Amino acid sequence: MKISAVIPVYNEAESLELLYGEIQAVGQEHGYEWDVVFVDDGSTDDSWRKIEQLAESDSRVQGVRLRRNFGKAAALSAGFDVAQGEIVFTLDADLQDDPHEIPHFLEVLETGVDVVSGWKKVRHDPWHKVGPSRVFNAMVSTLTGVRLHDHNCGFKCYRREIFEEIDLYGELHRFIPVLAAARGWRVGEVVVQHRAREFGHSKYGVGRIVKGFLDLLTVYFLTGFRQRPQHLLGAAGLICFFSGGALVAGLTAWRVVSHLTPALEPLHLHERAIFYYSLTLLLLGGQLLTAGFLAELMTAHRAREQRSYSIKQHAGGEDASNQKQERGDGN
Ligand code: UDP
Ligand code: MG
Repeated sequence: MKISAVIPVYNEAESLELLYGEIQAVGQEHGYEWDVVFVDDGSTDDSWRKIEQLAESDSRVQGVRLRRNFGKAAALSAGFDVAQGEIVFTLDADLQDDPHEIPHFLEVLETGVDVVSGWKKVRHDPWHKVGPSRVFNAMVSTLTGVRLHDHNCGFKCYRREIFEEIDLYGELHRFIPVLAAARGWRVGEVVVQHRAREFGHSKYGVGRIVKGFLDLLTVYFLTGFRQRPQHLLGAAGLICFFSGGALVAGLTAWRVVSHLTPALEPLHLHERAIFYYSLTLLLLGGQLLTAGFLAELMTAHRAREQRSYSIKQHAGGEDASNQKQERGDGN
């Protein structure tokens, strides 16, 4: 069984040789057949030269250089396209992920799961990263149903077939296990040692919290409603539309009655704030329904491009009967 490591690199020149050395040592110790893909995500330091040197000295090392900084998800995607292994690891280039954990990932994979996500139980990151990360993990686990302690961990491993079904873009790399689980792949977790960053600095600031939350909403929508967007948008639209409609109808009836009954003070609709709220609800409902229909139109249009299901196994059929005939027991 061959394993690949895909490593996104953005200005990590000092770490690359050490990281390569560690992977090589682990590979040798456990007798793995392995290869490494370093993806230079538009580094402006010496990273690419280091990658070229490593690739020249060892044929198991490949480098891919992106034309500019496209972000970690794009870098990983470029790496998945060229990685050869049946099992694909992702790890960060900054030496925070320890390659000696690779065997532990493989042990969990053997229990029958398809994705193993690392869990940095003891983290060596500043508090302003660890705190929001806890909240984020709890939210992702609740909203998506994929219960992991550490969705953000860059150290993960996958069966390679998964990448035939998942398109990565933006910053969705954190959610590969969630996207995979939505298609029926099984997800496991393993506790990993986490090390403090030795060289360079983190590429992500506090902006990641807001972006992460927006991505979570996107992933919730994509995993739950990709094939049926109107069920989400339309449901919200109908609620708005009918509550707006009911309010307008009630107000109209009240207006008519109050004008016909001398004992009541006549109601003028334009003087009531609630009237305007009702109109807003009606319009909003209509808009949500329209957005839902547009989304359905796009889904219908794309239905041929991506299968809405994922096949685990086949039994019988042509392949099996051919094999039978070869063995001579087909007639
Ligand atoms: N990275 C990348 N492109 C980017 C940002 C980061 O390839 O635009 C890489 C970076 O070189 C590192 C990994 O993604 O290997 C994780 O980044 P970092 O260590 O800065 O994140 P943190 O550990 O602080 O969450
Ligand atoms: Mg890091």
